[in-house]
Amino acid sequence: MPDTLIRNGTVVTARDTTRADVLIQGERIREVRAGVAAPSGAAIIDATGMYVMPGGIDAHTHLDMPFGGSKSSDDFETGTRAAAFGGTTSIVDFAIQGRGTRMRDALDTWWKKAEGRACIDYGLHMIVTDLGECGLEDMDDMVREGVASFKLFMAYPNVLMVDDATIFKALSQTAKNGALICMHAENGSVIAVIIARALAEGKTAPIYHALTRPPRAEAEAVHRAIAMAEIAGAPVYIVHLSSEDALNQVREARDRGVPAFAETCPQYLLLSIEELERPGFEGAKYVFTPPLRPKEHLPKLWDGLKQDHLQVVSTDHCPFCFEDQKMLGKDDFTKIPNGGPGIENRLQLIHHYGVNAGKLSLNRFVELTSTTPARIFGMYPRKGEIAPGSDADIVIWDPGASLTISAKTHHMRVDYSMFEGFQVKGNARTVLSRGEVIVDNGQWKGKPGRGAYLKRAARGGAWR
Ligand SMILES: [Zn+2]
Repeated sequence: MPDTLIRNGTVVTARDTTRADVLIQGERIREVRAGVAAPSGAAIIDATGMYVMPGGIDAHTHLDMPFGGSKSSDDFETGTRAAAFGGTTSIVDFAIQGRGTRMRDALDTWWKKAEGRACIDYGLHMIVTDLGECGLEDMDDMVREGVASFKLFMAYPNVLMVDDATIFKALSQTAKNGALICMHAENGSVIAVIIARALAEGKTAPIYHALTRPPRAEAEAVHRAIAMAEIAGAPVYIVHLSSEDALNQVREARDRGVPAFAETCPQYLLLSIEELERPGFEGAKYVFTPPLRPKEHLPKLWDGLKQDHLQVVSTDHCPFCFEDQKMLGKDDFTKIPNGGPGIENRLQLIHHYGVNAGKLSLNRFVELTSTTPARIFGMYPRKGEIAPGSDADIVIWDPGASLTISAKTHHMRVDYSMFEGFQVKGNARTVLSRGEVIVDNGQWKGKPGRGAYLKRAARGGAWR
């Protein structure tokens, strides 16, 4: 691969904003400073008027994920390609341990899903459904394979939910092996009772998905997760935090110096519960968990991002097509596949509604969408940084580019957009993954299978 010199751009990292050129040799960044001379034969990319940022890292995606006889509509090829179009150059997806099986089997299964398909680098979290006889041993084994984080569910009884003893054992194991527990925090047992009541009363429309999962059920589980982590002496990371109630729990813990972390997603920052009341069955497009909340929650979450009560923006990308998948729940909201598409639009939305709207600085934008997820999940400084030695995962961002988000033009393999018609300013112009241009001016230049598995390090460092 010839050297590449990115010239005349503004380098934006989590720390600072500077005018500098970036020299790339092979897959890595070699030099970052003003006035780098082009080596002979180097490819030159002119970035006048552009931001040169570390590629986005989406720490929460579900590609090719089985769900009740169906599966999420993006696989590792279509999903990672769509991610790249939006400036994301690494993802961390989830392998799912089947009850009564070894975690190694799940890891092998998910490696196979990604092999030959992934267009950008990918890591894997392991969803733990059962610790059984060998679960704790398996966790250590996974850490050696670069699976430095585990997800546990406090929701979805009889499917994914685990009891507090399992959660506490897993947390205690990570206190030793340095991995991070990610929690889906909702009180699944209470929610199951509320759902059963709703169905008995004939309440089957999509809106009841949201009304049966109250914010307090989320806050209670966040509180319990953090308390158990404190007792175990381990950090904890709350996934897809959606409500003010839950945010207050994280803030309270962090104020006491507890290593609790949380992410939120664009849908919780930009959409509210009214979406589920759209006419016909359209509300099903907005059925995911936790649900959308009343409008009052949205500014609180933005404020949480600003104040560092929330550290990461991910997408929880888990697309299901409206026509043939969401329709499964036409007569019963509990049969609607839970999930929505978003992997492509994360940077566009957070840049526009965060940076352009004056809620976040450019540096904070990079921190939330790239640098902090790299740190927390054990990829830093290889990922999430523009500095000598880091992988040349770079987004050349055009802050003036106008885009109307639409299912007609997006690259995700799904027949609707949650953000249909949203007009944003700012988009990825050129995207490099390990030194290779994979997106340029709306053209796809990458190849499926070029994305590599990311072996992530335990003790990522965010809590040291
Ligand atoms: Zn998820």
